[in-house]
Amino acid sequence: MKDQKTGFSTLCVHGGDVMDPQGGIHVPLYNHSTFGFPSTQALLDVVEGRKEGNFYTRFGQNPTIRAVERKLALLEGGELALAFSSGMAAEAATFLTHCKAGDHIVCIGDVYGGTFELLARNLPNLGIETTFLLGNEVDRLREAMTERTRIVFFETPTNPNMEIFDIGAVAETARGAGVLTVVDNTFASPANQNPLALGADIVLHSTTKYLGGHSDLTGGVVIGPKARVEPIWPWRKNLGQIMAPEVAYLLARSLRTLTVRVRQQNATALAVAEFLSKHPKVLKVNYPGLPDFPGHAVAARQMRGFGGMVSFVYDGDAAATSAMVDRLGIFTIAASLGGTESLVTQPITSTHHGMAREERERRGIVDGLVRMSCGLEDTEDLIADLQQAMG
Ligand code: PLP
Repeated sequence: MKDQKTGFSTLCVHGGDVMDPQGGIHVPLYNHSTFGFPSTQALLDVVEGRKEGNFYTRFGQNPTIRAVERKLALLEGGELALAFSSGMAAEAATFLTHCKAGDHIVCIGDVYGGTFELLARNLPNLGIETTFLLGNEVDRLREAMTERTRIVFFETPTNPNMEIFDIGAVAETARGAGVLTVVDNTFASPANQNPLALGADIVLHSTTKYLGGHSDLTGGVVIGPKARVEPIWPWRKNLGQIMAPEVAYLLARSLRTLTVRVRQQNATALAVAEFLSKHPKVLKVNYPGLPDFPGHAVAARQMRGFGGMVSFVYDGDAAATSAMVDRLGIFTIAASLGGTESLVTQPITSTHHGMAREERERRGIVDGLVRMSCGLEDTEDLIADLQQAMG
C-alpha cells in the first residue's frame, strides 16, 4: 500500500504489509527461529542496532511478527506494537516494565479473572500492590493514587458486567498525577474504540479474542508511543513471551476481516440485548448499546459500535441458570469470546470461578449472571435458541 491516508478497513486489509520479494500478496510465514548473515559485520550491524534486521525470533526480529505488529499499531493509532504469546503475557510485561518493588497500581472496575489474580496474588509477591476500585467508585481515583502509583488500569466495556468508563476523563486525572493510563481494549476491539486517541498511554489486547476472531489462536499485544512501549521489549525478550510466527501469520490473516466481523457481531448483540430486555425471565441486561444502560451516553461518545458481548442476570439460582445454559443449542459453553461462533458462560463457573464469593458479590458477579459472545450465526437463530432455553 502506498503511503496515503486510509480508513480503518483499508488498514485492516493492507496496513503493515511490505512487498514480498516473491510477489506474494501478503507477508509470508517466516517460521524460522534464527536468521543467517553473509558476514560477521552484517550480524554485528543488526545486533548493535545500526541496521534493522532479523537475528532471532524470540527477540521479535522476524518479518512475520513485525508485519502483524505494524498492522496492529496502525489499527490502534499507536507508534509501536509488541506482540505476545497471550493477553496475560502482554499485561504481565507491561506491569513489570512500568512498576518495580514498592510501586502501586489502581485497577478500576471488573477485570478478567486472570488479570485480577495477577494483580491481587502474583504482583504483591514482587512488592507491587494494587488498589481495586469498584466501577461506581471511579470518582475516588484521585484519592486512591499515591506518590508510588505508576499505572491506572481498566477495561471498558468490562468483563463481565459491561461497565463503561470515560477513558478521556480517567486519563486526565491519572496524567495530572504523573500516572500512566493502561486500557485493556479486548472487549471493544479497535474496530469499535481506540483508547490512545481518547487519551490513554498504553492499550493492550488479548488477540485471542476479536483480533484473532476464530477461536484458533492465543496471543496478546501492547500498543502505544515508543517511549512507553520500547522499554517493554527487553522484558518480553527475557521472559520469552514472543508471539509464535505461525500465530502472527494467522492473526494478520484474521485482521483483514476484522471490520466486517465486528460490524455483524455489534448488530447481533444489539438485537439479542433488545430481545433479552423484554424477556420475563431476565432481571437485568448489560449492554452499552441499550439507551437505558448506565454507561450508554459515555459509550456512545467514545465507541463507534457497542461490541458483540452481552451479559444478563437470569431469574434463577446457580443451578437453574446452569440448566438454562445447558439447554442452549447454538451457543457453545466456553470461556472465551470474539470468535465466529457464539459462546456462553456463567462467569461463576469459569472466568470468575477463582474469585472469592464475597468479592464476586461485591462486584455484581451473581449466580444468575450469564455472559454471551455473539458470533456470526444468523441473528434470528441465536434469538430462537435463547427463547427455547429460557422458555
Ligand atoms: N483481557 C481480557 C478482557 C480477557 O477476557 C482475557 C481472557 O479472557 C485476557 C485479557 C487474557 O487473555 P489471554 O487468555 O489471551 O491470556
